[in-house]
Order: sequence, then C-alpha cells, then structure tokens
Amino acid sequence: MTTNEKIYQFNALTDLWSWSVTLEEKNGQIKEKTVPDRLITTGLLGSIRWWFEVLVRGLTGNACDPTDTKCEDRNHCVVCELFGCTGWARKFRFEVLDEKNGTKTDQIKQNQTFYLRFTPLRPIRVEEWTLLDATLRLIAEYGAIGGKTVFKPTDEPTRASKLHHKDYGLVQMVSSQQSDGTDRGNLEKYLSKWPMLNHGAFAWASLQHFWCVNGKYLARQNGNSSSFNCVIGRLEPKQQSSQNDSWMAGRRPDPRNNVEAESKKVLSFKNPARTFGFVKPGLIDFNTMKERLTNAWGRNGWDFLAGATIINQLFAGKEGRS
Ligand SMILES: [Zn+2]
Ligand SMILES: [Zn+2]
Repeated sequence: MTTNEKIYQFNALTDLWSWSVTLEEKNGQIKEKTVPDRLITTGLLGSIRWWFEVLVRGLTGNACDPTDTKCEDRNHCVVCELFGCTGWARKFRFEVLDEKNGTKTDQIKQNQTFYLRFTPLRPIRVEEWTLLDATLRLIAEYGAIGGKTVFKPTDEPTRASKLHHKDYGLVQMVSSQQSDGTDRGNLEKYLSKWPMLNHGAFAWASLQHFWCVNGKYLARQNGNSSSFNCVIGRLEPKQQSSQNDSWMAGRRPDPRNNVEAESKKVLSFKNPARTFGFVKPGLIDFNTMKERLTNAWGRNGWDFLAGATIINQLFAGKEGRS
C-alpha cells in the first residue's frame, strides 16, 4: 500500500473536549447546554484548522475570515486549499485512532495515547505538510486542541471538581512521521502567492499577536479575587461583571441583539500549567499583557514567549535544511 499518509502520536495530558455546546433559551435567559458528541473528529479538525490559520497569518500569509468567508470553488485562500471550502474538497482524510490503531469513537481521556492520521486524497505540497506539522507542534507546545475556551481554573478546593473548572485540550506530541519539510523562507514565499485578504474581525488571530507562558496558570482564588479576572480586566466580584465584557474577557451570546459569542483571549490551564492568549494592536500590547501577568505571578520564574519567539522556535530546526 503506497499512501504517503502522516501519522502523529499524542499523549493526552488532560481530557479532550468532545461535547457539543448548544444554546437554549430558558425564561428569557440564554443557557449553555452540553451534549455528548460522538463525532469528536470534526471538533478536533476544526481546532487544527483554527491554529493553522493563526500560523498562516503569523507568517504574513492570508486566511479567510471563517465567519464570513468568500472562499468558494477555485477562488479560495491557502487554508481552504488544504482544508476545503464550498465547492472545494479537503485534500486529506482525517482520522483519530486509538492505541490499537482502531477508530477512536469515544472521548479522549487524560493519559490516553491517540493518533491523528492524515491521508492524502489529492497531492499535498511540501509547504502544506510543513505548515500542518508546525500547527500540530504549536498546539502541543504552546496551545491547546479543541479546548473549552469558556472554562478557567480555580484554586477553590470545593469548586475544583466542577466541570467548568476542569482543564481540557492539552496534549503532548510523542512522535511524528514528519519528513524534512521546507524552511520558513520557502513557506513565506509560498504564502505570498495566495490572494491578499481582509482578515476582518480575525486579524488578531495571528501568531504575531500570540503569547504563551508555560508552567503558570491563572485562577479564581475565592469569591472576591481571581488572578484570571485581574489579568483580563473583568470586574470583581463575580456578580458585578457585566454581560458584555471586554474584547479580552470575551462575550456571551445575545441572539436577540444579534450578538455572537466571542471567546476569551486569555486561556489558562492548571495541570499541567499553561497560560496563553492574544493581544490586539491598538487595544492591548505585549508589554501591557506582561505587566498584568507580572501582577499575578511576580517578576521571576516564568518566561513570556511572544509570537515572534514562538515562530522562531517552531522553525528553528528547519532553517537551512531545504
Ligand atoms: Zn478560505
Ligand atoms: Zn465555578
């Protein structure tokens, strides 16, 4: 059998989120309801695509605005080229396998081994494989996959077992079948050949605006204080926080007023500890972000990795190899 499929082996450091969130209205209040989702692959693939877009924008490439894409058929962006869009099929088959190489159908739980298999259905360029490979390392080393972004850790023992304080989506890459790939220069050259796009509301979702601190987390300490809220600039105590929060704090959906939910721009995980997020030029920059984190953690014992550093680390081994 000659498929040039690629298989990546992962170890789940936390459970992976595999529930669907639906919104339902109850007494005029919009409530989130979670339902078990058997099709975990769609969620994972959606998450991989999202980080792929972040990487592409970080390398000064263009990715369409997923909420308002104009990509269709042969007129599409570099991300849709690989992941598909209306009238243009995805170039690969995506499968999640368990430790026995069978199809994984249930939720991926902490400490489980699992595999992501990408089987080409049409030729995939070396640049595309390299971007995909870097995306998966970005997720494993600095981000999270299919995380539940509304959750945050707590330091309150009585609350720690609650679903909404659990960590989701941290994985460790055990091995990959990545061939040599190409270098950053070639990737940028490849990306520059695709159409220029207006990134719209998603311009911030770029690795250039991303930051990560491994080994540290933000949490709520008690009813009156939360290093998390402090960093995102949300009011204390909890009851006083407004329904419509800031860009950093995210936003709850309000279908009546046509307001869509927006995720928080700071995510934090307790075990293993990791905190990452995005800044928005003109609104909050890396220095301000770092200052806020310093207020929570003090000055020493942690490294603030800004996007450019992470890009360098992701491609460090690849320079001069092509
Ligand atoms: Zn597109
Ligand atoms: Zn709680």
